[in-house]
Amino acid sequence: MSSTISNMPVLNIKREAELDKNFAKTIAKLAHGEQIYGCIQCGNCSSTCPLSPYMDYTPRKIIAMVKAGFREEVLTNKTIWLCASCYSCTVECPKGIKITDVMYALKREAIQNKIYPKRFTIPAMSKAFYDTVKSTGRSNEVALLMRYYMRTNIFSALSYVGVGLKLLKTGRLAIIEKQMKRKQDFKKMLKDSEN
Ligand code: SF4
Ligand code: SF4
Repeated sequence: MSSTISNMPVLNIKREAELDKNFAKTIAKLAHGEQIYGCIQCGNCSSTCPLSPYMDYTPRKIIAMVKAGFREEVLTNKTIWLCASCYSCTVECPKGIKITDVMYALKREAIQNKIYPKRFTIPAMSKAFYDTVKSTGRSNEVALLMRYYMRTNIFSALSYVGVGLKLLKTGRLAIIEKQMKRKQDFKKMLKDSEN
């Protein structure tokens, strides 16, 4: 990927043979809809999206890139992680494209293929939360934050030690992780949902 005089990245030229022709099919299946093929590039999704000014590629471009098969470029950029799931784009799309579900499908695909921006805070927090809940069936703040800072910057955790100690004293943080009952059933359910 290269940059223009603005901060908006541009796609490198690719030969057709380098594109992933099955990418749109995979994402359409995960996002419950074939409507993605009907995108008319009207830009309603981008203009209504509150986060598009901060995205590498606007939602309109993401849909076009998915359709064209720019798999690597879509899965490695930060746009999909900035999506706040507000559903505004989905409501405004004249072609009934479930853009929010497409964003979810892209995040899932990026995590499964381990090609998301590793130290970017949003996927790091998402993965830390999933691993914490998977391990005990519950969300424990201390375990969650430890996993999160291990993935991002462990030293930045030091600046929160004082606050953490105060929260521990008042019982607002629990060091010992509570386990849920019938954890094996829960793990089986998670495993089934991954398939
Ligand atoms: S609003 Fe719908 S049809 Fe228009 S560009 Fe976005 S996805 Fe495509
Ligand atoms: S759901 Fe995501 S992509 Fe759609 S408008 Fe909201 S933030 Fe933007």
